[in-house]
Amino acid sequence: MAKPADTRTAGRKPVAKATRSAAETEKIRAALAARRDELRAEYDQTLSEITELQRDRLTDSAGDDQADTGTKTFEREQEISLANSIRERITQVERALERLDEGGYGWCERCGDPIPVERLAAFPSATLCVKCKQLEERR
Ligand SMILES: [Zn+2]
Repeated sequence: MAKPADTRTAGRKPVAKATRSAAETEKIRAALAARRDELRAEYDQTLSEITELQRDRLTDSAGDDQADTGTKTFEREQEISLANSIRERITQVERALERLDEGGYGWCERCGDPIPVERLAAFPSATLCVKCKQLEERR
């Protein structure tokens, strides 16, 4: 995705807790909402896969040996844990949207700089800017 040049704040270091423009906030909101819809679709998909696995287990388990049953149980457990982790991410995004309304979202916890919209869209739960994240990882 091309990064529009006008979102750069080159040469000017943003002050901690500077205000983000309304347009930028809207961009973040749209990105988060899109992410939430995406995750919800993924969640529904996973749930229907679980239902399918469950149905398979009930309908054609007569000829199964223990290994088959074990595999199916394992698959179902995998799907359930996937569904749970997707739901957790949905919750994260919803919480991010709430915090965005309160003005407490999208700021680096370490340096106070605004976290770029692109980064928030990719990682809604990001609490550090790229620079600080890299410093954290180097430790
Ligand atoms: Zn930072």
